Amino acid sequence: MIKVRFAPSPTGSLHLGSARTALFNFLFAKNKNGKFVLRVEDSDRERSSKELVSEILKDLRWLGLQWDEAPYFQSERINIYKKYAEKLLNNGNAYLAKNKEQSEDVKEQKVKSKTEAIIFKLVPQKIKIKDLIHKEIEFDTSAIKDQVLIKSDGYPAYNFACVVDDYEMGITHIIRGDDHISNTPKQIMFYQALNLPVPKFAHIPLIMDPSGGRLSKRYGATAISEYRKKGYLPEALINYLALLGWAPAGNQEIISLPEMIAKFSLSKINKAKAIFNIDKLNWINAQFIKQSDIKKITNFCIHFLQRDNLISYNCDSNYLEKVIALFKGRMKHLSQIGEMAGYFFLPAKINYSAEAKKKIEALDKKIWNKLIEQFENLDNFSADNIEKVCRKIIQEKGISSGELIHSLRAALTNMSVGPGLFELISVLGKKKTIERLRW
Ligand code: GLU
Repeated sequence: MIKVRFAPSPTGSLHLGSARTALFNFLFAKNKNGKFVLRVEDSDRERSSKELVSEILKDLRWLGLQWDEAPYFQSERINIYKKYAEKLLNNGNAYLAKNKEQSEDVKEQKVKSKTEAIIFKLVPQKIKIKDLIHKEIEFDTSAIKDQVLIKSDGYPAYNFACVVDDYEMGITHIIRGDDHISNTPKQIMFYQALNLPVPKFAHIPLIMDPSGGRLSKRYGATAISEYRKKGYLPEALINYLALLGWAPAGNQEIISLPEMIAKFSLSKINKAKAIFNIDKLNWINAQFIKQSDIKKITNFCIHFLQRDNLISYNCDSNYLEKVIALFKGRMKHLSQIGEMAGYFFLPAKINYSAEAKKKIEALDKKIWNKLIEQFENLDNFSADNIEKVCRKIIQEKGISSGELIHSLRAALTNMSVGPGLFELISVLGKKKTIERLRW
């Protein structure tokens, strides 16, 4: 049976690159009816944190990448690594060494808890692997030094723990980022020395920024939780991540998780580096927002509107849904809702910008009065009726429709763009519209 693993180190948050590695492992496993294992590589005691473990697990669940077995924690498997290291000591592939980096002071203080490190004796050789993405890769290990297997604190070094676990957990395919290629020859030497079967490797090209550099804090290297907080939908993020290096046939750009699973294959992963493009991510997110059910989007937006102090806990859900429906097709991410639709929730009196003021004052006071009067007379405050009133005034007063529409939009929203004006007025409602026009 096919078995893959995602093996995050809880020394940092789940980022785009690691989330994509998790996704590709998940897709591969599900496509082959195999298993997707989660292994927390927390053997670096100083840098690993429990908070990061829960954050990573939460992010994976949010993305829909549920693992098939209970997560494994390397920190709970120390004895297993020791057992394998002892095998290498016994068969002459490893030796004991005092930790040379420790100062005498530290050694004395911790003398009881410290043991000798176990070091792998490296034999220079040429190693060839058939990587499932890069095809053949050849390594010359003569430049590699002897490798620590077990550190003097009794914890395993990453490369060794990784090999022991991949074997013990029955991992058949190792799918991970290109940044791990340099670890692969070391790991292969451990498999050989332990006389264990070597799994298949697939190293996926890294994600770069548009200038070809590594993702930075400023561009793309944002934690998955930040995307969640900004109002990206998990299905959109997953869709975008899948396209970073993989493409279903026919240039399909919008794809659901079940469809990805059905179509996924490692052979379609591009060997070239993937380029992160925020505009594309935003476009995909916008498509998913547009497609989503209005109730679902409204529920998400409530959170952002509360965050921006625009609504309280007991707001009118009917009104809210009508407002959100006006913006569903216009948002790139849901945290924009407050900025785009704030005027629906603010008191009637607005502090106008200079630009809005100019537009408002450009229209004769008589026209404003006429609008107020006509709106007051409308029994049915529908978009159609509102439009009729406006068109009639435009005709009677001999002004252009642009003039009236721009001024009216400015007076009601303090903005120059937004949803269709007549629908907007209808949703805003007669009372608030008239109050606001009495500026
Ligand atoms: N713990 C490693 C990392 O977070 C994963 C290594 C691997 O996939 O083999 O980069």
